[in-house]
Amino acid sequence: MLPPPWTPPPAPVLALTPDPLTPIRDITHAHFQAGETVVVLKGVAGGELWGDAMRIVAPSWHTPTDEDGWRLRDPTGGAQTYTTGHPRYLVHLSRRCPDCLIHLRAMEDTFLPRFADREEVIDCGWYTTTALGQLVHLADARGGR
Ligand SMILES: [Zn+2]
Repeated sequence: MLPPPWTPPPAPVLALTPDPLTPIRDITHAHFQAGETVVVLKGVAGGELWGDAMRIVAPSWHTPTDEDGWRLRDPTGGAQTYTTGHPRYLVHLSRRCPDCLIHLRAMEDTFLPRFADREEVIDCGWYTTTALGQLVHLADARGGR
């Protein structure tokens, strides 16, 4: 079973929420390959996690962590169609993947109860994108940027 469709909802409400799970996720760069579809989780909407669905384009250096990352294409990204993300930011959509499902379930268990009484689309503020198109998780953001 694949997760529900990941369409970016309109005008999410920002509710800055710490995410202790993604930074400690143990996933290798080689877990992903070009051509696959992944989602970068962004928050909670209507009792489900939501995020931006992206296609993996090519290996690319992730400068915020100084580690191997992946160039991503977001068809609805507008000016930020192409970004580079760290492997631990990514969850497989294009294939049933136990490793990614474990992470997805852990995120659901942690964050769905927190917003159970909220009707609106919540953006938990986990990610920002730098001017150079690098996707940065809050935990990887350096001071002075
Ligand atoms: Zn996976």
